[in-house]
Amino acid sequence: MRSGSMAETGYGDIDVHCPADGRLVARVPDNSSETVIETVRCLRTHQVEWEALGPKGRAKWLRKLRDWLLDNERHLIDVLQSETGKPRAEAAIEPALACDLINYFADNAGTFLADERVKPHGPLSMTKRLIKTARPYPVVGVITPWNFPLAMPAMDIIPALLAGAAVLLKPSEVTPLAAVELARGWSDIGAPPVFSVLTGRGNTGAAVVDSVDFVQFTGSTATGRAIAVRAAERLVPCSLELGGKDPAIVLADADLDRAVAGIAWGGLFNAGQVCVSIERVYVEASVHDEFVARLVALVGSLRQGTDDDGYRTDVGALATEAQRDLVARHVADAVDSGATALTGGKAGNTGTFFEPTVLVDVNHSMACIREETFGPTIPVVKVADADEAVRLANDSEYGLSATVWCGNRTRGEEIARRLDAGAVNINDAFSNLFALGLPHGGWKQSGLGARFGGEDGIRKYTRQQAITMPRGPVMKRELLWYPYTPFRGRFVGRLLRVLVARDPHRRLSASSRSNSL
Ligand code: NAD
Repeated sequence: MRSGSMAETGYGDIDVHCPADGRLVARVPDNSSETVIETVRCLRTHQVEWEALGPKGRAKWLRKLRDWLLDNERHLIDVLQSETGKPRAEAAIEPALACDLINYFADNAGTFLADERVKPHGPLSMTKRLIKTARPYPVVGVITPWNFPLAMPAMDIIPALLAGAAVLLKPSEVTPLAAVELARGWSDIGAPPVFSVLTGRGNTGAAVVDSVDFVQFTGSTATGRAIAVRAAERLVPCSLELGGKDPAIVLADADLDRAVAGIAWGGLFNAGQVCVSIERVYVEASVHDEFVARLVALVGSLRQGTDDDGYRTDVGALATEAQRDLVARHVADAVDSGATALTGGKAGNTGTFFEPTVLVDVNHSMACIREETFGPTIPVVKVADADEAVRLANDSEYGLSATVWCGNRTRGEEIARRLDAGAVNINDAFSNLFALGLPHGGWKQSGLGARFGGEDGIRKYTRQQAITMPRGPVMKRELLWYPYTPFRGRFVGRLLRVLVARDPHRRLSASSRSNSL
C-alpha cells in the first residue's frame, strides 16, 4: 500500500457532509481491519530506514511538508470549512498551527533526542562508559476527533515522525478530509512511506489499537477508557487526551473588558468544540452583574454562520446533529431547572447551528455544569469569593485546563496552584496550547500522560535504551565471572564492602559471613 493512499474499503463507504448546510462533500472508505494490518506491516518495514535518517534527516522532510502546507493553504482551508462548517478565520488557524509545530519540533528534535552520557555511580559500573539513548516505537497509531481535522493530527504525527516512528493516522469519520490531504502532501513531497492515513469508523480505530506499538488517542473519555483497556491487554503504551469541563474564575479586581472578551472567545471559539473550551464561569459576587451584562452584550452581537473568503462570521456550525442535540439538551435541562438563557438558547434554522448562549442562575446539579457540553454555551455562576470559586472549579471529574481572570497576578498564580487541572492560563484562554515548550495534558478523567510539549512531547514516542561498554583496557574476565573460588570470593567481598560502606568502621571490618565466590 502506497503511503498516504486509501486502500480498498472493508465495510463500505462513509459520506462526509458539510454540517452548515448538509450537502454531501465527499465519500471515503471505511477501512477494514485487514487493511489496517497490511498498512502497519508496510509502515514497519519502512520505519527502519526512517529511524536511520536521524533527527536532521527526518527534520528535512517535515520542513518540506511545512512548505507544502503553506503552498496549499487556501485549498486546505476550503477543505476544512467544507467538512466542519467553521468560519474562515477559525479554519485558517489549523495549517498555521501545523507549521508552527513542525518548526518547533524540527528545530529541537536533535537536542531533545540526543544521547545522554550517564556518570557511573558505584563499584559495579565505574569501569564502564554508560549511554542512555532514545529509540522510537516502530509504529505509532494516532486516532483523532472531529473538532480540528488538521491541527489535531498535526499535534501528534509531527513529534512522532520526528522521533523516528512510522505513523498510521485514523481520523474521525465525521471529518476525515483534511487528514487525507495531509497524506497527499506527504506523498507529493516524495517523503519515505512512513506516514499513512486510513479513514474509517470506530472499528477501524480499534484495529489500529490492535496493531500498533504505541497509541496516541484524542477524543471522548468513554472511547479513551476502552482504548486504555485494550492497550493494557496488549501491553502497549497509550497516551490519552480526553474530555474537559474547563472552569474560568473571575475575581473582583479583574479587567472586566478583557475577562469578557477572553471568556467569550474561550467559550465560543470553534463553536465551543474545543477540549479546553471555557465551559463554566465563576464570578465574584461584587462584579457578577456587570460581568454578565457585558458578556451578554458581546455574545449577542456575534455573527453566526460559515463564510467563504470574507472573514465575516464569528461562530460556526456544530460538527454533527448529535452534537447540536446534546447542546440543546444541556440548555433545556438548565432552563427546566431554573436557569435563564439571557442570549441565545436555541438551535439555528439551518444545518447544525446552535445560537451562542449565556446561561445564568445555574448550579452544580445541572448537566451544563457537570457534563462536557462541547458547544457554544457559557454558564455563569455567582460565587461569594475566590475560595468558593476554587472549590466549585475543582468539583468536577475533569481536569484539563482552567483560567483565572484577575488584577493581581501574584494572587492569580496562587489560585492557579490550587486548581486541579493540567494547565492554568491567567488572563488568557488556550495560551498554554500555543506555548509548545509547555505540556498539554489532562488530569483526572481528562487524560493519561501529556500530549505534547517540550522534550517530553517527542521523547514519549521513544523507548529508553541503555548501552554500556568498557572504559579503557579490559581484563580477560570480570571479577564476578566464573569460576567462583574462595580467594576471589573473599577479595570481591572485601572490595565491595570498602566501596559501598559509608563509614570507616564498616569499611574495614570483616563481613559477618565471608563470601565464597
Ligand atoms: P470519540 O471518542 O467519539 O471519537 C474519537 C476517535 O476515536 C474517532 O476517530 C473515532 O472513530 C475513534 N474511535 C471510536 N471508537 C473507537 C474504538 N473503540 N477504538 C479506537 N478508536 C475508536 O470523540 P469525538 O466525538 O470524535 O470527539 C469529541 C471528544 O474529543 C470530546 O469529548 C472532546 O473533549 C475530546 N477532545 C479532547 C481533546 C484534548 O486534547 N483533550 C481535543 C479534542 C477533543
